[in-house]
Amino acid sequence: MSSDVDLVIVGAGAAGLAAAKEAQKLGLTFTLLEASHRIGGRAYTEDLAPGVPFDLGCHWMHSASLNPFVAIAEREGFHYQKDSDWHSSIFERGSWLSDEKMAELEDTEEALDDAIEAAAADGKDVATADFIDLASPWGPYLAYWSSLGTSHDIDQVSIIDHVAYNDTDENWPLREGFGALVAQWAAAVPVTLNAAVSRVAWRGDGVTVESTKGSVKARRVLITVSTNVLASGAITFDPALPAWKQDAIAALPLGVHNRIAIMLNDNPFGPDVKDNATIMLDGDDVPMSIEIRPFGHPYVCGVTGGRFGSWLERAGQQASVDYVTERLVGAFGNDIAKSLTDRVIVTAWEGDPWTLGSYSGTAPGKGHVRAELAKPIDDTVFFAGEATHTSFFATCHGAYLSGIDQVQAIAKGLKIAA
Ligand SMILES: Cc1cc2nc3c(=O)[nH]c(=O)nc-3n(C[C@H](O)[C@H](O)[C@H](O)COP(=O)(O)OP(=O)(O)OC[C@H]3O[C@@H](n4cnc5c(N)ncnc54)[C@H](O)[C@@H]3O)c2cc1C
Repeated sequence: MSSDVDLVIVGAGAAGLAAAKEAQKLGLTFTLLEASHRIGGRAYTEDLAPGVPFDLGCHWMHSASLNPFVAIAEREGFHYQKDSDWHSSIFERGSWLSDEKMAELEDTEEALDDAIEAAAADGKDVATADFIDLASPWGPYLAYWSSLGTSHDIDQVSIIDHVAYNDTDENWPLREGFGALVAQWAAAVPVTLNAAVSRVAWRGDGVTVESTKGSVKARRVLITVSTNVLASGAITFDPALPAWKQDAIAALPLGVHNRIAIMLNDNPFGPDVKDNATIMLDGDDVPMSIEIRPFGHPYVCGVTGGRFGSWLERAGQQASVDYVTERLVGAFGNDIAKSLTDRVIVTAWEGDPWTLGSYSGTAPGKGHVRAELAKPIDDTVFFAGEATHTSFFATCHGAYLSGIDQVQAIAKGLKIAA
């Protein structure tokens, strides 16, 4: 098979863009095909109002001291905050919890981590649900925050993800937006937009990749689309992907994490309000964490996860805004409603045809499947993206690192070195 390029990269999210930059650096010829009209994928910032950037996808540079985007942010002139605490206060059934109660919560979280680590060290590949009693006072909060971290409910994810994730507990948000950073950092990468890939025909000697912008022949292909896009069958592989690869895709589904932003017309929160309130109005309620005026920007942002996030997304934009409003009114009083405007952004990642969800979680019993997802087939079809990273999955930098790793492996196989 004669080739147009060394490499076709499918998808221009953080993984595909990092892969393209690495390919440029190593001297590989490549074509980067992106289905949508923009780059960035799940890294995407829009203006809620002029000068008020809002991240629809990634927002925090997690494990910041190990996160390559911190240096990129500094190079690109972006600003970040180091002291973010995403559950700094809790309002429960009519009152704010005391410092003593908050300290009790911290102890409970530590005990949960210890129990999960001990079980994982014993080789147990079971659901997080086995360690959280929903009937206990902290159960609903622990389950809710877990659903934000994993985008799944606690019965849907293995504790192996919990222990494998390299968490330094430094989560630094970007003032101008993480999506804006990714877009600026990758602005010079050549990308073919509106090029949805529908078929990848692969043989030992190369691939033919068909898209809405025509077909390209290459020596290798790097697939960076989400596991839910792969599972949907939107891309046909010829021959079909082997069973072990299909099993890995099925074991790493994306769940739901959505962000609901409401612009404020003034600052109704006193000076003592913490930067994040988690609100549970009554015992049957799903708690909701609400970011309050991040970086002093005039908005609040409620976040949802797991099955509840999926349900609220399907209930629609107004239902989502109402849910946040009801929580704010319950915790801060009726007058708060006067400060909320109808300028909103409500994400709907499950309905986004190019991602079909938020990020991947490992199904219980499939604890070590990410390494399988990352393995190439026949040294021809390669895979990158957040779901393939074994310690920084579900993050933007995990996606970035996976793209670089795979291109280095491809270059090595093709005997192309910088
Ligand atoms: C609400 C939310 C909050 C998050 N918060 C954080 C956070 O605070 N910090 C953090 O680090 N991470 C966070 N993440 C996760 C992070 O955004 C993702 O892990 C990362 O951006 C994924 O990058 P990727 O390159 O693997 O995939 P994607 O960004 O999904 O890129 C894949 C690309 O493939 C394209 N594509 C799909 N189908 C096709 C096709 N058929 N042909 C061609 N192209 C196709 C898509 O359009 C997309 O651009 C969050 C995600 C969400 C949704």
